[in-house]
Amino acid sequence: MNLPVLFCASEAVPFAQTGGLGDVVTALTDALRGLGCDSRILLPFYRETRDRIQAASPLAENIPLQIGDRTVTGHFWETKTAAGTPVYLLEKDEFFDRSHLYGNPRRGDYEDSPERFTALSRAVHALCTSLDWAPRVLHLHDWQSALGAAYLRFFWRQEKRFAATRCLFTIHNLGYQGLFPAPAFRLTGLPWEAFTMHGLEFWGQCNLLKAGIKYADRLNTVSPKYSLEIQTPEFGFGLDQDLYARRPDLSGILNGIADDVWNPATDPHLKAPFDADHLNGKWLCKLALLKELGFGNAARGRPLLAMVGRLAAQKGLDLLLEILPDLLSRPLSMVILGSGDPALQQQLRSAATAHPEQIKVVIGFDDPLAHRIEAGADFFLMPSRYEPCGLNQMYSLRYGTLPVVHAVGGLDDSVRDLDRDPDQGTGFKFYRYASADFLAAIDAALTLYGNPTARRDLRKRAMRQDFSWQRSARRYLDLYQEMTAQTHGDK
Ligand code: ADP
Repeated sequence: MNLPVLFCASEAVPFAQTGGLGDVVTALTDALRGLGCDSRILLPFYRETRDRIQAASPLAENIPLQIGDRTVTGHFWETKTAAGTPVYLLEKDEFFDRSHLYGNPRRGDYEDSPERFTALSRAVHALCTSLDWAPRVLHLHDWQSALGAAYLRFFWRQEKRFAATRCLFTIHNLGYQGLFPAPAFRLTGLPWEAFTMHGLEFWGQCNLLKAGIKYADRLNTVSPKYSLEIQTPEFGFGLDQDLYARRPDLSGILNGIADDVWNPATDPHLKAPFDADHLNGKWLCKLALLKELGFGNAARGRPLLAMVGRLAAQKGLDLLLEILPDLLSRPLSMVILGSGDPALQQQLRSAATAHPEQIKVVIGFDDPLAHRIEAGADFFLMPSRYEPCGLNQMYSLRYGTLPVVHAVGGLDDSVRDLDRDPDQGTGFKFYRYASADFLAAIDAALTLYGNPTARRDLRKRAMRQDFSWQRSARRYLDLYQEMTAQTHGDK
């Protein structure tokens, strides 16, 4: 079959990463190759990529890229993922040889982001010309590569090479839109008809994400529930009507997890291995974790609740802080690992200082500790306001750490509510974003903790869920096949 698919994205592990997008791009292209696709990746050659790369060979030099009135030149390099997926790197040091991928954390996106990501999107055409190749599916991700959908629609598709190319645009998080002052639009080189509310214009500004929403043939999000939520004012970040208008073309596919990396039977970070049939190791992991975190012996007999992730408003930490006094009046322990918003960090630190016997807070990014927490905790809390997919709840299920989640987005799609579905439930859900509801869901989890047989049975069930990339990749392949089977010109 060998369906040619080109991913254009701003992150892919191990070459460049700030979040989940980097995992998805590499894992999905690798899995698609396993299903017989000729999938490849185009990525900027960032400064950090130089340190993370094993070897790369030059592919093409002095490639002209049009940005507004100016033509810049870039170079292409070629490398591979560990699994063998070809990765093409756009070298343009003026744009990508910087300390961060997108901007200074304090000052936001780099001001020349429109130039930077116009160059990346323009590079799709230049790359295919260099390779004398064209994808049947151009798969774009988030605002950084969204312009490619507009270029395909307005320019490239008129060429024979791209006449049959269809475009899929995946929204990983609608909260980030690539919104810039109106003059940014000139840099794109798109015709003025694309700068209306039916194109990239958004309340007088230039919204790069809208290029994907308006001009891709198909759209998807990283969970089915999120694809519905973003069509509503509550979750739409001002784009709900645009997304609603595209509802026949908009679907959702749940991300997978790297189940070789997140596997409690082989995880090198754990004190003891375990799986659904051998749960004793999980208890040993809990004891080791309690010791590592400095909890006293009393914590051994108490349930351990955990949170790992970015400390950002999206993650529902306001709910946690509201219920913390109530929570800490119960016989339980808590560990929180994260970094982000300085005010949230401070509030959590104060709570840990006031209740050192019950709550430990680790500020920072620590992947091995994240693994040990997933293994050693009893319950994992994810009260996110919104969650396009979320990975931690799937890791938690795999590690038999029962999730307590706000029933939104990927959390709703990946966790089955024990209360509503006692035979197939895998966790605890609350449906209204309210502290009392969150607390009630945690109380249900604590009640279960008091019943060792039910607790063990539920852990086993949770651990047997399939969240492999194979499963997700098959859904993407179905979608690609649907897109490429459509007669050309219907969109
Ligand atoms: P998001 O992409 O919104 O940040 P996800 O749950 O989809 O949230 O993915 C976050 C990933 O980053 C998970 O793999 C999580 O374990 C990891 N992570 C986030 N913060 C930390 C941290 N402080 N230490 C270790 N791992 C972290």
